Amino acid sequence: MPVEVVDTLISGAKIITMDSERRVYMDGALAIKGSHIVAIGSRLEIEKNYSSGHVIDGRQFVITPGFINSHVHITGDPLTRDYVPDDIHCPPQEKLTKWVLPRYLAHTPEDEKVSAQLASLEMLRSGATSFIEAGTFRHLDAVVEGVSTLGIRGRVGVMVQGRAFDPSEDQAKLSDEAIRCLEDEVTRFPSRDDILVSAWPLLVGHSTNSDEVWKAAKAIADDKGLVISAHMSPYKDDPDWFLGEYGKRPIEHLAEIGVLGSNVCLTHVAHIDEHELEILAETGTNVIFCPLPALKGVFGVTSHGCYPEMAKAGINILLGTDGYDSDIMHSAQLVAALFKDTHLDTRIFPAHEALSMLTVNAAKAMGMQDQIGSLEVGHKADFVCHDTDRPEWRPLLSIVNQLIWSADGRGVHSVWVDGVRVIDNYHSTMIDEQELYAKAQIAGEQVIRRSGIPFISPWPVIEN
Ligand SMILES: [Zn+2]
Repeated sequence: MPVEVVDTLISGAKIITMDSERRVYMDGALAIKGSHIVAIGSRLEIEKNYSSGHVIDGRQFVITPGFINSHVHITGDPLTRDYVPDDIHCPPQEKLTKWVLPRYLAHTPEDEKVSAQLASLEMLRSGATSFIEAGTFRHLDAVVEGVSTLGIRGRVGVMVQGRAFDPSEDQAKLSDEAIRCLEDEVTRFPSRDDILVSAWPLLVGHSTNSDEVWKAAKAIADDKGLVISAHMSPYKDDPDWFLGEYGKRPIEHLAEIGVLGSNVCLTHVAHIDEHELEILAETGTNVIFCPLPALKGVFGVTSHGCYPEMAKAGINILLGTDGYDSDIMHSAQLVAALFKDTHLDTRIFPAHEALSMLTVNAAKAMGMQDQIGSLEVGHKADFVCHDTDRPEWRPLLSIVNQLIWSADGRGVHSVWVDGVRVIDNYHSTMIDEQELYAKAQIAGEQVIRRSGIPFISPWPVIEN
């Protein structure tokens, strides 16, 4: 067989492929041509058949598929991170109106662009090559523009609502506006193989979407091969509301109106009963767990969360970071730890399963399992080189266990998306990071000022 010339050859790396046999090469090589992987396997085999003018010595790297952050707020939270103290204790609705919405509403289009850039940079630098947005609060065009500068693969969309809670509001008009927004964004930002950033129907969820909006979102997703993402039941107040309104629990109601399925991702799902769990399994609906926000937000997942039971029933579990820490590797570590303790059973969510949630599970939910989530011939060249010349990686004895339990985003040396090295030697190759940090600092201070939320600190903070 003649030697094939490829664009890039990474040789001598340890490679966790996540392919159907879950092969791990301890002396492997990866060949890239254009945006795709053309060969992957043991180094000797690949070097025999492929050559390149651009050969990277991979001996210091563990290569994994690019991780997928399946639920992240890239606007609203990144510019105001941790400003609101963690010990503010009030009902969820009060928290939303007093501490969350004023920050979200204070963003200009430029703020949302900078916010999306910062979030994308943080995700890439901790190994996420793809993400599903929770939903842009207002300015989708600015967000798409911002995300596109970083070279990350993103599914974005306006966080759509459309329910009239006040009897004086026109329900039909609200639903129509929400549906028009969904139709408009998926048309303007279509999902195509050669486009990294595109729009999906993203709903706020909870009780904020009318049945008409849910049904329209599902019809759009079915028609165009897209995926719906929405929040549901982080607290007991969602089930309480649905029971009061429809006499059914949320998942029962959504099933009844026909909007569940394998192209639907529900985030949180902390408070469900056995029947709802059965429905999720029967319909193939995906569930996204965001461990740190769940703990910080006191969802009660350690007492009520039934994610191990969901996984056992065959429900596809994915991981997100929501509005907090954007290192998706922390989510994997937390999910692997939490339920061992709650169930007093070390067999729950071992490291290998946590890694599946970050990769193949998420790719399947996105309908992209033949393109991303695993490193295979013909797949997109979306992967991460983890630097093992670091204390948390040495000695390297058990690669997957160490990836989940010892390593995190700190060791992400380089990241490739669609065959392009977007992070190299720990930094973006696409933008000036220092310039972005300066913009983010100014924007964050302005957003907080406009929000009117007071600065609260139990300790004196001396400015000058
Ligand atoms: Zn969220």
